[in-house]
Amino acid sequence: MIPASFTYHRPTSVPQAVALLAELGDEARPLAGGHSLIPMMKLRLAVPAHLVDLSALSELRGVRQQGSEITIGAMTSQHDLIGSQLIAAKLPILRETALLIADPQVRYVGTLGGNVANGDPGNDMPAVMMCLDASYAVAGARGERRIAARKFYHGAYFTALEPGEIVTAIHLTAPPERHGYAYEKLKRKVGDYATAAAAVVLTHDGTKVTACSIGLTNVAETPLWAEEAGRILVGSSLDPSTVKRATAAAEAITAPASDNRGPAAYRTRMAGVMLARALVRAAARAAQ
Ligand SMILES: Cc1cc2nc3c(=O)[nH]c(=O)nc-3n(C[C@H](O)[C@H](O)[C@H](O)COP(=O)(O)OP(=O)(O)OC[C@H]3O[C@@H](n4cnc5c(N)ncnc54)[C@H](O)[C@@H]3O)c2cc1C
Repeated sequence: MIPASFTYHRPTSVPQAVALLAELGDEARPLAGGHSLIPMMKLRLAVPAHLVDLSALSELRGVRQQGSEITIGAMTSQHDLIGSQLIAAKLPILRETALLIADPQVRYVGTLGGNVANGDPGNDMPAVMMCLDASYAVAGARGERRIAARKFYHGAYFTALEPGEIVTAIHLTAPPERHGYAYEKLKRKVGDYATAAAAVVLTHDGTKVTACSIGLTNVAETPLWAEEAGRILVGSSLDPSTVKRATAAAEAITAPASDNRGPAAYRTRMAGVMLARALVRAAARAAQ
């Protein structure tokens, strides 16, 4: 349970960090909160020769709003997200999701950037980011670019990041004021990763759904955006037969592994159950 030896680097600016990562190449990994990377290193599933610690990059911390866009620095901790009044007011699904990640100890240190960049299908934030149509600001030796969350996840631990690139911020547009939202997560015990989870953001005009977006966690090699399920629900009153069609469409795109969280068929079904529950809570909130 002791990691292999490595050289520790602590850059003090983003250009310094990306220059270091470019210079050190494949042998280097960025280090954020360390709450996914260090356990992997202890198990020797990751053996980086160099760690480039991002914790001195104060420009990567904090939540701010500019016009309709909300920007969250990659090094903002999950705990800081929970405490942000801006997030509570504009993007409450992020607060609800962060509260379901691990436990306070992990959330004090674990960062939003680490959670979305990690590529573990068990991480909770990526499906929520797909649901919200977030984009990630990325910096590398060749400059900066933005990548849509919906195009970022290519496989388990395999993302659109090029070697040496880091996520610097997460950009989001807040949904309309009276939107409904919910993140429903089935887990075996407090602090566990999801057996299956569903994120829903919707708007409702009092009689029918006018917009609906759905993300699913830990039921495939990547987080999923359940586009067809959302489309089925738009224009409906969330009547039982339409909800059944939508949950079936969501279940149809899952491909979970059978593991100690349950057999694949069970986890697929639980994705549908989590979605149905999230729809009920989101609709109740939209109507308030
Ligand atoms: C007991 C326990 C329970 C947990 N339960 C959950 C859970 O229920 N749900 C959940 O979502 N997570 C869970 N986690 C993981 C936790 O949320 C991590 O904090 C998170 O996955 C990674 O964030 P980090 O800041 O710790 O990143 P690190 O561990 O430092 O990094 C993770 C990976 O991302 C890379 N990386 C980090 N930051 C960047 C960046 N800015 N740009 C590019 N690459 C970067 C690193 O190189 C590494 O490969 C749990 C962790 C523990 C220890």
